[in-house]
Amino acid sequence: MEEQKLRGRCLCGLVAYEAAGPVSHASHCYCTMCQKQHGAAAGTYANVARAGFRFERGEEMVTEYASSEHGRRGFCRVCGSTLYWRSEQAPDRIALTLGTMEPEYDGPVERELHTDTKPKWLPVR
Ligand SMILES: [Zn+2]
Ligand SMILES: [Zn+2]
Repeated sequence: MEEQKLRGRCLCGLVAYEAAGPVSHASHCYCTMCQKQHGAAAGTYANVARAGFRFERGEEMVTEYASSEHGRRGFCRVCGSTLYWRSEQAPDRIALTLGTMEPEYDGPVERELHTDTKPKWLPVR
């Protein structure tokens, strides 16, 4: 099977990354921490292997916020783009934000997490 390559960058473009597939556990997370950090209804992430992830540029522009004892949220310190979530307890994985990927992520997002705090103002289909 052809190896899947993922690429992404932040809004201002100073930070760019690449990662090797496959992705797993693509999900919309409605926890209140994701809502606060993204300023949006959800944080949308997919897991990849940490070993296949690297910054193409701008790693020094990334700030990590410790949102919990083990959770680390990486963002661009210039434009604020949320780039990844990782856990100190699972150093082999990193969860990348689907909204930063270029080209656009084309896989399914079938999981929803923390739906108990899913906002009521999401559009109704
Ligand atoms: Zn940026
Ligand atoms: Zn969350």
